[in-house]
Amino acid sequence: MAHGSGGPRVVKYGTIREYVLNFEVVLADGTILWTGANTLKYASGYNLTQLLIGSEGTLGIITKMVLKLIPQPLHNVLMLASFSTNEDACAAVSSIFNVGITPSAVEFMERKGMEWVIENDQIHFNLNPDAAAFLLIEVDGTNMDMLFNDCETINTALEKYKCLEVLFADSATQKDEFWKIRRTMAVSVKSNSIYKEEDTVVPRAELPKLIAGIKEIGLKYGFDSICYGHAGDGNLHVNILKGNMSDHAWQHDLKKGIVELFQLTVKLGGTISGEHGIGLVQKEYMHIKYSEIHLNLMRGIKKVFDPNGILNPDKIF
Ligand SMILES: Cc1cc2nc3c(=O)[nH]c(=O)nc-3n(C[C@H](O)[C@H](O)[C@H](O)COP(=O)(O)OP(=O)(O)OC[C@H]3O[C@@H](n4cnc5c(N)ncnc54)[C@H](O)[C@@H]3O)c2cc1C
Repeated sequence: MAHGSGGPRVVKYGTIREYVLNFEVVLADGTILWTGANTLKYASGYNLTQLLIGSEGTLGIITKMVLKLIPQPLHNVLMLASFSTNEDACAAVSSIFNVGITPSAVEFMERKGMEWVIENDQIHFNLNPDAAAFLLIEVDGTNMDMLFNDCETINTALEKYKCLEVLFADSATQKDEFWKIRRTMAVSVKSNSIYKEEDTVVPRAELPKLIAGIKEIGLKYGFDSICYGHAGDGNLHVNILKGNMSDHAWQHDLKKGIVELFQLTVKLGGTISGEHGIGLVQKEYMHIKYSEIHLNLMRGIKKVFDPNGILNPDKIF
């Protein structure tokens, strides 16, 4: 809640924001109140419930919540599409939506990240030797025939982006395996290298420019990176690897690289965190996205909720 978290299925179902109707919150002065109403619609003044989502514990302590529930889809079909370049895979993402389909997941993974997971977790899966990048695409719904029609339409769309092949997960076990590769990528990268993770997000049509820019900036500052993430939402987790960088370069030059990375993200219409939040680590980059006017508005809201600054001091800004 406090992070406005997302995940792989945000592309169809939205972030936690779409499901929270009401919070019980403890304010900085100990007052306990409910922020909204247990209703699906709300137009009664400022929406305090939505304001608390993503506030990272700086405006109040959430103690209870009322959530909207939706039925679980009956069926899903999972595909792993491979591409010879990162840019082709990223460009193919928008093509799925352009043919009128809203998939339940479109996850991007670079080859190196998949190789590390397969190695670390001893997963028996051979990656297409010519592929540099992969999209894990899921469609879900109640009618299997319609899902297969959607898959055919998606396949035709991907062909225009030099898709090398599309593998269908043909069993629940293989679905779990594909998802395990994606879900354990963060842990695998962390166990293979000293890293710094950035949670960039851009309009999804800008993904090809973003990933190309990330690699260029890496070349300029001497760092390698592994990108993966929720491509359907334009959200790329950029894991910058220390690799052979000197400690001095890691301490000093890297920051300049991260500033350029965020400047590119903002120039492409994006922002510096899609779902992981700002906390203490990212706050020094907030000025890249926000003007002093924005930041003063945010500081003003913080002051109203927490005049003595006792709730998660120094977080966000
Ligand atoms: C391997 C891995 C994968 C991840 N994948 C995703 C992903 O796909 N999508 C995603 O969005 N995130 C992901 N995350 C990030 C993380 O899981 C999320 O940010 C998650 O929201 C953290 O939840 P938590 O309960 O652990 O919160 P914590 O880390 O305990 O707290 C997060 C923030 O919320 C505040 N907070 C906690 N509880 C309250 C409360 N009751 N009231 C007010 N403020 C509170 C804390 O002060 C802190 O600022 C991932 C993390 C890891 C390690």
